[in-house]
Amino acid sequence: MPARPHPFRTPALGAVLAALLIALAGCSSAEGDAQQDEGPASRDSDAPVVLTTFTVLEDIAENVAGDHLRVESITKVGAEIHGYEPTPGDIRKASEADLILDNGMNLEAWFGQFVEGLDVPHIVVSDGVEAIDIAEDAYAGLPNPHAWMSPVNVQIYVDNMVEAFSELDPANAADYEANGEAYKAELQAVQDELVAELSELPERQRALVTCEGAFSYLARDAGLTEKYIWAVNAEQQATPKQIASAIEFVNENDVPAVFCESTVSDAPMQQVVEATDAEFGGVLYVDSLSEADGPVPSYLDLISHDAKTIVAGLTGGEA
Ligand SMILES: [Zn+2]
Repeated sequence: MPARPHPFRTPALGAVLAALLIALAGCSSAEGDAQQDEGPASRDSDAPVVLTTFTVLEDIAENVAGDHLRVESITKVGAEIHGYEPTPGDIRKASEADLILDNGMNLEAWFGQFVEGLDVPHIVVSDGVEAIDIAEDAYAGLPNPHAWMSPVNVQIYVDNMVEAFSELDPANAADYEANGEAYKAELQAVQDELVAELSELPERQRALVTCEGAFSYLARDAGLTEKYIWAVNAEQQATPKQIASAIEFVNENDVPAVFCESTVSDAPMQQVVEATDAEFGGVLYVDSLSEADGPVPSYLDLISHDAKTIVAGLTGGEA
């Protein structure tokens, strides 16, 4: 963990959570609360409950858990994860969970205070990932939290989940191990496809311009140069200086297309489009999956969708 104080912390939140927890402690859970929000009906309702902080982790965890655990995300599809404010319902749900998974690397600014008063074990699924530091802005020098944008890193997430699930539910340890190995093979296949697709881009079109600086790991894997308007979504107000810097980069590098992430407004990037010859190349998914009938209902879909959208945008093709 970095030694410096967290830049996004809301001082009042701790007091609010403490008050809620005191209220909850006096509440009996025998009043039927546990019957609400049961999750997928196909799962055994006695199965241990694993909560994740966001939908991407939920999907990865479900692949490892199979039918043995009930996995649910605290934040919903489309939620802004960095600056999320937990509700009393989230805290109640978390207090009844058997295990909580968070990404760590400062992704969930709200999480430290959220779990502080809970008597529920939690693990940081990015443990062991080699961090890329943020290069610019107020967060310079802190690890870029978007480690899951490299399927190679997600294989480390899977190993951490296999270990945690096996400890939680030793009777099914062999299944978690097998599920983890099978899913890691799928992750590697998507990684190979992504690198192959993006390596087709001509040298001059290897620049990825996005709203948030969420693509450092993917850019590293695929040999792209990364440029973004702001480093981390927590403060997603683009300054005139940030927009001017993106415009300058696009002009200097003749970038044909620019992109923005699904969980934020693309208005600042549209200003870049208006001021340059670049097209808007489309929406990329990073901090949330889509709904089940949307373009990226799973993590593997998310990576494939983003790779295809980037290649199509930068080569002028169809996604
Ligand atoms: Zn993000």
